[in-house]
Formats: sequence, structure tokens, C-alpha cells
Amino acid sequence: MTRQPPNTARAWVDVDLAAVRRNAERLRAHCRTRVMPIVKADAYGLGAVPVARALEPLDPWGFGVATVSEGIALRDGGVTRPILVCPPVLRDEFPAAAEARLTLALGHAPDVAAWRAAGGGAWHLSVDTGMTRAGVRWDDVAAIVDAAREAPPEGAFTHFLAAERGDASMAVQEERFRLALAALANPPALLHAENSAAAARRPNSRYGLVRPGLFLWGVWSGPGALVTPDPVAAVRARVTDVHRVTAHESVSYDATWVAHGPRRIATVSLGYADGYRRAFGNRGHMLVNGRRAPVVGVVTMDMTMLDVTDVPCEVGDAATALGADGGEAITAEELATLAECSPYELLCGLRMRLARRYLDGAAVSAGTVS
Ligand SMILES: *Cc1c(COP(=O)(O)O)cnc(C)c1O
Repeated sequence: MTRQPPNTARAWVDVDLAAVRRNAERLRAHCRTRVMPIVKADAYGLGAVPVARALEPLDPWGFGVATVSEGIALRDGGVTRPILVCPPVLRDEFPAAAEARLTLALGHAPDVAAWRAAGGGAWHLSVDTGMTRAGVRWDDVAAIVDAAREAPPEGAFTHFLAAERGDASMAVQEERFRLALAALANPPALLHAENSAAAARRPNSRYGLVRPGLFLWGVWSGPGALVTPDPVAAVRARVTDVHRVTAHESVSYDATWVAHGPRRIATVSLGYADGYRRAFGNRGHMLVNGRRAPVVGVVTMDMTMLDVTDVPCEVGDAATALGADGGEAITAEELATLAECSPYELLCGLRMRLARRYLDGAAVSAGTVS
């Protein structure tokens, strides 16, 4: 038997499942609809199975994923509700999807027939209203009318191209969606369109389901959002070394940071192989014992150095790269701005080398973790 070290030994992600539930409940109350949490990409890096299981008490309609394998992993994890694979799936995977009782998003008549032939059951009609990405074009629904009469879809959906901007494109897409549905002989009753940004901007959804991802994981949907999520994830890593440097001594590769005088430098066991991006070198901060400490020098693959001259810090302390510690917090938005990426990329970039630790409501600060 191999012995696993505790998952807080080196670097890990704390995931507050109670906060995930609060966020889902908040969005559900705001939209007055059922929720289909989107747990693709391992729930944006937080762990699809634990998160989906934690959401089950809220009676979600089911869950959305991006691949057949992700759907099978949820089934293996004990999820029995419907699982919709939102992007298109090639026919090679239809038998495996059918066997796992997944629901496919289809947009082409021959695929509807092939899905039935493979033993597939429920499917949702995917309508492209402007993304030019997946599904049947809104003005081409005639091509699938007969197939939809033969094997009626359980639901139909579309996806907004600029929900965060809240501009006129949403109304255009909704009108196209309406036209597409009107072209069907008997349109399904179950309709859905809104992701987090769209759902957070509009109370009382006009559809039967909302499809949030990012909001559930605690990331704000930007200006115009009417509801705000509670933070969910924190990335923490141990201080493994503390060094003293004197004037003119440098830190990390290429000597991009040079001390002006005596400084205390902490080494934290988190690097770009964990998803802590190189862009944070000489620009980002981590929290140590509730205080901000600047990243000094280049982020390396497995380690990052902090200037802790003004911060109490000892070997074994937990530094917080994302999330709260004491009264201070580093948000996904702050890090995404520094890295010139989106909060989506930032969360999805947290690598599997990081352990996941699931908390359920316990207010744990970095300083007190064991
Ligand atoms: C990813 C995705 C969502 C969820 O988007 P968020 O912005 O994370 O809420 C919803 N619907 C579809 C089709 C998606 O691909």
C-alpha cells in the first residue's frame, strides 16, 4: 500500500462546497428557474464529482459537461441526474454516450438518426444564433424538422456570444432562437440559454433552466451583474525556505529582481507547473499570515519567491496565492488582470498536481490549516 501525504503538505486548492451551494441557491432565486450547473473541465478545475454531489440537495435539473468522458466520470462518481454534453460529439462516441445514459446536444438530422441507432435516448437541439460554433443555424432549422418530429428533442438551447457586455446582441440572438423554435413542428418545452453572465444580469429568466458555471465557482460576472457570488476557491502553498539577501543580491532566474538592501525572501512551493503563471513574476502578491507579500523574481516551475521582510513568515506557513487569508483577499479577477487572461483560463489552468481539499462551510484561514 502506498502512503499518501496529507493533501495540504505542499500546495493545494481549498474548495468551499457550502459556498458553491449558496451561489447556486442565490442564482436560482434570482432567475426563478431550475439550474443546470456546468461542471465541464472538472468544474473549471475544482473537481466535478465532489462539486456536483454537493449541489444535489438543491435539486438541479442535471449537469452540463463538455465531453463524453467528463459525463462518464460523473456517472462513475454516482451522479444519476441527466447529464448534457453541450458541445458536439462525433458519432464514434455515440455508443459510449448512450451506454452512460448521457444527453447529447445535436444540431444535424443524420446525427439524430445515428444517436437513436446507437441506443441513445434524450437529446437537446443545439441552435446556433450567432456564435458560429455549434448546432443548427437558427435560419436552417427546416433541415432538422423531420428528424425532430421522428425523435422529439427533450430540450433546445442556444448560447450568447457577449453576455458580459449586455449589449444588443443578446436580443438579436433571442429573437433568432424564437424563430428557430417556431420553425419546429412541436418545439420542446424545456429551453435554456443563459450562462452566468446572462443569468446574473437578468432576474426572472424567460427560459426553464439557466446554465451557470463561473458564478457557482465564486467569480463575479462583471459590471451590470445584479447578484454577487461568495468566494469558493483558495490556492495555498507552503513556505519551504526563508533566506536573507543583502544589497545587490538577486532572486530567481535571470536576476530580474535585485535587492536594494537587506531583505527576507520566502520560497513558496507553487510554480507555473501548478498553474501559477509566470506573468505573476515581479508583479503579483501572495498573502502570508493575512498580509500581502510581493512576488520577487521570475516564477519558476515549482517554486515562487516572496519578499517577506515586512511580514511574519516561517517555514511551514501557508501562503495564499488566490483567495482570502485574514481580512485580505486576492481575487481571480486580480490575477486574471495581471496575467492578461480571463478568470476562466485562470481557474482551468490550476493543474492536477495541486491537491484539492473540500471544506463544507468551515471558515478556514490559511494560518490555521494543519
Ligand atoms: C461553459 C458554458 C456555460 C457556462 O458558462 P459560464 O460563463 O461559466 O457560466 C454555459 N453554456 C455553455 C454552452 C457553455 O459552453
